[in-house]
Amino acid sequence: MSAMTPKMIESINDQIRAELESAYIYLSMSAYLEDQGLKGMAHWMRKQAGEEMEHAEKFMNYLYERGARVVLEAIAKPATDFDGPAGVFKEALKHEQYVSGRIYKMMDLALTEKDHMTASMLKWFIDEQVEEESSADEIVKKLEFLGGSNASVYLLDKELGQR
Ligand code: MG
Repeated sequence: MSAMTPKMIESINDQIRAELESAYIYLSMSAYLEDQGLKGMAHWMRKQAGEEMEHAEKFMNYLYERGARVVLEAIAKPATDFDGPAGVFKEALKHEQYVSGRIYKMMDLALTEKDHMTASMLKWFIDEQVEEESSADEIVKKLEFLGGSNASVYLLDKELGQR
């Protein structure tokens, strides 16, 4: 097993920061939804935050396995106000598209460096991003379809509380 390049290690460490930042953003969205009385949606977002923390841990464990150093960096203060539940899920979708772009760039780097172990590990994250984007997109489409009436938001809140 050959050593990873410093550039690759740095990019994974920065992704650990980005995953933890994602968790923080989703927790902030969850807090906003709780405040709006949308407990089901808040629950969904809290689960999402938990998944992001698992992603961070997965990257951390990968660095440990490769004998590389994990370095945690500062995460930014998340937004606290959103444009209703539709605004929340639209931002979540945009954020997941941004995360996918980051992972593509990491894959490009792994391939350039012929680091096939890292490329193989990243493949899992690319597959995961398909799911992340599609689940957020589905909720955005539902909210658009329902037109944001109180009754429809109430029903969707119940549905998302099942996650
Ligand atoms: Mg993630």
